[in-house]
Amino acid sequence: MQRTFIMVKPDGVNRGLIGEIIKRFEQKGFALLNAELMTIDRSKAEYHYMEHQEKPFFGELVDFITSGPVFAMVWEGENIIEVSRLMIGKTSPTEAMPGTIRGDFAFCKEENVIHGSDSLQSAEREIENFFGLLKRHRLEDDFPFEDR
Ligand code: ADP
Ligand code: MG
Repeated sequence: MQRTFIMVKPDGVNRGLIGEIIKRFEQKGFALLNAELMTIDRSKAEYHYMEHQEKPFFGELVDFITSGPVFAMVWEGENIIEVSRLMIGKTSPTEAMPGTIRGDFAFCKEENVIHGSDSLQSAEREIENFFGLLKRHRLEDDFPFEDR
């Protein structure tokens, strides 16, 4: 069983897509473990996107992700890291297939509605960055899902 970090970005929150995105993950059979609407500061955003800190778009990416509330979530399920990336679709709207979240809702690469962790290590780091270790462990005790 895997956990991943999924975040509706400020454009997705603004456009009222939180419910649609939760629906898709629930329909797939994944379990929601934690969720919070929050506006993040630059240091949290920079840590979240640290792999991109040398990229020319890093400053604008941090500006964007801190520009309004995001809806941060922890989801659990079988192979969820790989499967959720398929559900989310490619980064660029010219490559994201119809039927994926970005394929259906995103029209530019800079603001593409949703984030999902791309590996076990980034999932762990991102969950801790947004929810902290304490909450995560408390949720483990509260939601002992089996075989989902
Ligand atoms: P993904 O979100 O699909 O994992 P990346 O990790 O490559 O994509 O990039 C993180 C985020 O940075 C993307 O979701 C997108 O919002 C933004 N981004 C990626 N590439 C570019 C680019 N060339 N120009 C502007 N923004 C970009
Ligand atoms: Mg990425």
